[in-house]
Amino acid sequence: MTEARGIKLVLFGPPGAGKGTQAQLLKERLGIEHVSSGDLFRHHLSNGTELGELARGYMNRGELVPDQVTIGMVIDRIGQISDAQGFMLDGFPRNAAQAEALETALRERGQAIDKVVHIQVDDGELIRRLSNRYICRACQRPYARDAETGVPPAKCADCPDGGDIYQRDDDTEEAVANRLSIYHQETAPVLEFYRQRGLLADIPGEQTIDAVHHAVLRILDAAHAATVSKS
Ligand code: ADP
Ligand code: ADP
Ligand code: ZN
Repeated sequence: MTEARGIKLVLFGPPGAGKGTQAQLLKERLGIEHVSSGDLFRHHLSNGTELGELARGYMNRGELVPDQVTIGMVIDRIGQISDAQGFMLDGFPRNAAQAEALETALRERGQAIDKVVHIQVDDGELIRRLSNRYICRACQRPYARDAETGVPPAKCADCPDGGDIYQRDDDTEEAVANRLSIYHQETAPVLEFYRQRGLLADIPGEQTIDAVHHAVLRILDAAHAATVSKS
C-alpha cells in the first residue's frame, strides 16, 4: 500500500496578512511542516552565515532577496520533507520566477501544490498590524501588542524557557511601505498563475484569527474531498 500523501499548500498574502499566525495554528492542528522563507532568512541572519549577510541589506530595505539565493534555499528545505508529511509555504513564491521554479522542482519529484490559500487584507490594516507586531527570537512565532494596554507579551508561550520577544528590524514605516509596494507590483500577479491552474482560494483576512483559521480548515477539507473523489 502506498503511504498517504501530505497536503502541499501555499499560504499567500501581503506582509501582515496573518500567514505566519495561521501556519502556526495549522501546524498545531494538522502537523504539516511550516516553511517560511522569511524565517529561513532570519535564521541565517542570526547564525551569521554568508547567505544571511547577503540577504541582510535587502531585508532591511524591504526588498526581495535575489532569486538565485532565495529559490535554492527554499527548494532545498522542501526537499528534506517527506511526501507523506506535506508542507505549507509562507512567503514563497513572491514573484513569477519563483512560482515557475517551484512548479518545476515539485514536478521533478512527482509532486504538486494542492491549494493556494490567499488571505486578503487592505493596506491600512496591514500597516496597523505590522507596527504592532512582535515575534519570538527562538521560534519566530508572531505576537501583537495588547489592544488595550499596548504592551507586547513578555515571553513566548511556545518556548520552554520563554523565548525573548522582539520587534523585527524591517517592521519600520519605510521598509513596510516598500514591502507593500513590491507585494502589489511583483507578488500579487502570481495569484493569476494559480488561479489559471484552479488552485486558488480567497479568504477575507479582516476577521478574527480564529475565524480565518476555520475558513482555512474548510478550504482544506474541500481540497481533501476533491482529491479522494479523484482517486
Ligand atoms: P512578512 O512577514 O512581512 O511578509 P517575511 O518574513 O516573509 O515578511 O520576509 C521578510 C523579508 O525576507 C522580505 O522583506 C524579503 O527581504 C525577504 N524574503 C522573504 N521571502 C522572500 C522571497 N520569497 N523572495 C525574496 N525575498 C524574500
Ligand atoms: P504575515 O506572516 O502574513 O506577515 P503575521 O502572521 O506575522 O503576518 O501577522 C502580522 C500581525 O498581525 C501579528 O502581530 C499578528 O499577531 C497579527 N494578526 C494576525 N492575524 C490577525 C487577525 N486575523 N486579526 C488581527 N491581527 C492579526
Ligand atoms: Zn517561541
